[in-house]
Amino acid sequence: MITLDSPIDQLIRLKPEIRIGLTKLGLHTVGDLLYHFPTRYADESQYVSIQGLSEDTVATVRGTIKKLAAKKSWTSKVPMTEGVIEDVSGTLSVLWFNQPYLAKMLQIGGTIEITGKVSMYKDKLAMVNPTIREEKALPIDSHDSLFASDEHAVLTPIYPETRGVSSLWFHHAITRALATIETIPDHLPSTLLEQYSLPALKTALIWIHGPKTKDNALIARKRFAFDEIFSINVARQQERASVKEQVAYAIDVSSADTEDFIKRLGFPLTGAQENAIKHIFQDLERDVPMSRLLEGDVGSGKTAVAAAAAYATVMNRPFAASDAAQDLRPKVKQTFGSLQVAYMAPTEILATQHFESFIELFRHTGISIALITGSGCRKFPSKVAPRRDVASGEVGSATWTTISRAQLSKWIANGEIPIVIGTHALIQKSLTFKHLALAIIDEQHRFGLNQRKGLAKKDTHFPHLLSMTATPIPRTLALTIYGDLDLSLLDQLPAGRKQVTTVMVTPDKREEVYETIRAVLKEGRQAYVICPRIAATDKDARLDSAKRAEKTIQMKNVLTEAKHLQEKVFPEYRIGILHSKMTKEKKEESMYDFANHETDILVATSVVEVGVNVPNATVIIIEGAERFGLSQLHQLRGRVQRSSHQPYCYLFADAKSERTQERMKLFLNAKNGFELAEYDLQLRGTGELTGVQQWGVSDIGMEALRNLKLVEAARQAAIAIVADDPQLKKHPLLDAHIKPFAAVHFE
Ligand code: ADP
Ligand code: MG
Repeated sequence: MITLDSPIDQLIRLKPEIRIGLTKLGLHTVGDLLYHFPTRYADESQYVSIQGLSEDTVATVRGTIKKLAAKKSWTSKVPMTEGVIEDVSGTLSVLWFNQPYLAKMLQIGGTIEITGKVSMYKDKLAMVNPTIREEKALPIDSHDSLFASDEHAVLTPIYPETRGVSSLWFHHAITRALATIETIPDHLPSTLLEQYSLPALKTALIWIHGPKTKDNALIARKRFAFDEIFSINVARQQERASVKEQVAYAIDVSSADTEDFIKRLGFPLTGAQENAIKHIFQDLERDVPMSRLLEGDVGSGKTAVAAAAAYATVMNRPFAASDAAQDLRPKVKQTFGSLQVAYMAPTEILATQHFESFIELFRHTGISIALITGSGCRKFPSKVAPRRDVASGEVGSATWTTISRAQLSKWIANGEIPIVIGTHALIQKSLTFKHLALAIIDEQHRFGLNQRKGLAKKDTHFPHLLSMTATPIPRTLALTIYGDLDLSLLDQLPAGRKQVTTVMVTPDKREEVYETIRAVLKEGRQAYVICPRIAATDKDARLDSAKRAEKTIQMKNVLTEAKHLQEKVFPEYRIGILHSKMTKEKKEESMYDFANHETDILVATSVVEVGVNVPNATVIIIEGAERFGLSQLHQLRGRVQRSSHQPYCYLFADAKSERTQERMKLFLNAKNGFELAEYDLQLRGTGELTGVQQWGVSDIGMEALRNLKLVEAARQAAIAIVADDPQLKKHPLLDAHIKPFAAVHFE
């Protein structure tokens, strides 16, 4: 019997190339197949005449194949098929990269239907990598909708395809699956389906794969959108509930002179910082673990907030071991030692920078601080200075020293070092804290239940969590993926911060801009140059989407651009590079060189978004700016907003299309990253939304995030169901369904 768990080849015989294609798409079971949704539907009554095509729109064209040939593109030697399609109104060039076999499969003179995005190629309109339907697959009399029979739905599903597996293949396989499997039990409670007028699972599957009407397709998509957002929320609410069951160290924030600590920061806190600290302190005072996300633009001052929380924590003594070994809430405190804080940063450079700034912030307290990264360990102060020496100022001039990991581990394990800063090395199995009370996590997107448990190890107490991010995301996305966290926003930049002068540069002004930058470099400042690609031939990129395929040739890349700038533009300055394909060591080295002004210009991909903090860098050039999300541009721009010198951001964009101009205008005028994240969500076409993988939300889920009402409804429903039935005992199907959502943790 065929079930959702049956392998696909039990349903249908698979040719080798189809088997390979399915594996590539991650489709193994019949269930996977049924959840491989069409990205859109070709409406056969809506062909566009070739003459009526316009750039940047998706269209379906039907015509005769006039020319067809397999070739190799002359720049990158990528095999391709090039052809010309003709209808009564005109001709259209068509290119298929990496699909030379199409030249053999299709026939000159045959009729073909192609669907895809219209773009410019060699100054003419063209379609790159369109999906294909041959005439023989088209329903007879498809235009005569009055007589359209049941077997021939007017709306033809178009699936995400891969080599060897066409939309037509999916259509047949899925139709067979739906006909073979009789019942598909629904994991959504029927009360919810009724409440929101959503179709049951099997109906929704039938409608999404072969809708008879546009409404059917729409309501099926709505059901799966709700389903996904609801399921993620249920998983998060469960996680939240199980964290709240744990016991944390209750921190007496008044025992520390936090006001004095904050005064010593040397600047007045912003209102947003004050507010965040207030909420964090309220959380810390309870013995229920805090789970808080601090969201704030680059430069909004998250470190100061983190430092205040760390200070309040480490000024507390651990409780004395109680007679009742199981008593997690003893009343008597020890007279020595302190609670511990772990602070994890995404890169070694950043961890080291935090270590250095914490030394300055905590110098007067005499508290020991350690740094632990892949390349070694440090401890401050170099000598263990008893606290009584603080008054004599003996630690005032202390410095750090390198120590062995073994020695440091021992000191962390016996509780002698209160503050430990580090990279992922912090969550290694071998590292044990004695009284870990607070974990501060910078830019990890999600630091889940298991990682927290892992940090706590043998300690029966669960650490409070302060997670921090500068990645601006839309509110609906935050509510969903961070549903287990309480949110604090730093939506205010510290006073006196210089606004970045942002300029859209037209190609004829390039030389002029370079001269302006030369003048800034001459004053001793540094610059970033951001390129959309790493290297000239980036096969993945070409396969990615039609648009990219066509633009790769003109697109700036790190390697070529660095060479060009060094040889032709800035021969007198030192240029470094940074991109994701470099080894971890090379990356750290390159960032280190830039941070220490060993290099003047850093040519990089968007990897510099997080993990580099170089106040002396005051200029950023962004090449191919139209290829970045607005919030991503904003974050890149934030890299140069850390100094007292006037910062500049130059955008080089291919701004021919209206859409690009519109987006760039929004970028120039937006107040903050959150606003831009909302624009990104609304403006970027579905399937083009970045971060689907990053956030673990599907295309359909992303679509749903545009709908605040749906997201709120799904969230409230999830909160209600988990409050009533935390273990989901009454909803075993739902329990099984959400397992994968709970397992996803992003690092
Ligand atoms: P981010 O939120 O990006 O982590 P940081 O914490 O690194 O930002 O702060 C950026 C800079 O702003 C640091 O040099 C910090 O000392 C400074 N800063 C933080 N808060 C304030 C404030 N309220 N007033 C002035 N400067 C501040
Ligand atoms: Mg930071």
